[in-house]
Amino acid sequence: LSHAKQQPGLLAFYQQGQDESHQRELTILRDLPGALQQNQLFVMYQPKVDLREKKCSSAEALIRWIHPELGFVPPDEFIKLAEHSGNIALVTEWILTTVVSQLALWYQQGRAITVAVNLSAHDLTNPQLPTHIATLLKRYQLPASVLALEVTEGAVMQDPKQVIQILTELRAMGIELAIDDFGTGQSSLAYLKQLPVHEVKIDRAFIKDIEHNQDDALIVSATTQLAHSLGLKVTAEGLENYAGLALLQRYHCDKVQGYFFSKPLTAEHFSEWLQQFSKQSPQWFEQEIS
Ligand code: C2E
Ligand code: MG
Ligand code: MG
Ligand code: MG
Repeated sequence: LSHAKQQPGLLAFYQQGQDESHQRELTILRDLPGALQQNQLFVMYQPKVDLREKKCSSAEALIRWIHPELGFVPPDEFIKLAEHSGNIALVTEWILTTVVSQLALWYQQGRAITVAVNLSAHDLTNPQLPTHIATLLKRYQLPASVLALEVTEGAVMQDPKQVIQILTELRAMGIELAIDDFGTGQSSLAYLKQLPVHEVKIDRAFIKDIEHNQDDALIVSATTQLAHSLGLKVTAEGLENYAGLALLQRYHCDKVQGYFFSKPLTAEHFSEWLQQFSKQSPQWFEQEIS
């Protein structure tokens, strides 16, 4: 800063940068509640492929926001801000309702699909959440098995006792639970075993270079073995190429999600993708290593 003081232009530049990002945050916070009502937000669905069955019967719901002035605002950015401002409950309410009503349409068309919704830390402090979800499913006459929920280790750690209580209720209802971004936090699988979850999702950080990085390959293979011996399923996040797929199959990873199979898709495109994939899925597993 002392350096900047000698160069007033530089200080002004820093301040301007700070003001701009502060302004952006204020705009996001101010506009989010209205955007939810004005259909500026929508949901994309990314397929999760079962490696043993070579089938897709589940997806992750990922929220998207196109702001009229800012353009695309990444979910990581506005979710974090919504968490701090207390608006996250509105976002979660919106995505749960949107996903469940979409699921109701798919079920009417005979598509048995399970969709995972991401919860944020704040959602897991709400003891009303299980009742709320039960009411929503009942309204659309859907079984709880259509819905899965993803939570991060960090969200659990904020108040393990209360979070475990809420997760236990959700699990008892028949909802699938996954720990998201596994490997990026502090917790071990031994600790996760105490949580009432069905699945761990290994973070993309360990998957993206798996075919070149022996440490990552070892971590993924050992994590998968240990998770299985603890009765947990494993999903690998962020697979982008065939070489990685071959390794994940060798390690007996249960499911894979990533650009290799598909980027997140609109509901309509996801339906089309599913139809194509169910016809030709074996081809995806037979490609030569490129
Ligand atoms: P996440 O739950 O770990 O979601 C996976 C992220 O990885 C998504 O980013 C997805 O688009 C991206 N991804 C999947 N496969 C690949 C791949 O092969 N390569 C690359 N480079 N990326 C891949 P996205 O959609 O930007 O979401 C980022 C994060 O924002 C999510 O991470 C989640 O933590 C949060 N998020 C998204 N939607 C929601 C939501 O509805 N509610 C809450 N609370 N959080 C959400
Ligand atoms: Mg997730
Ligand atoms: Mg993740
Ligand atoms: Mg993530």
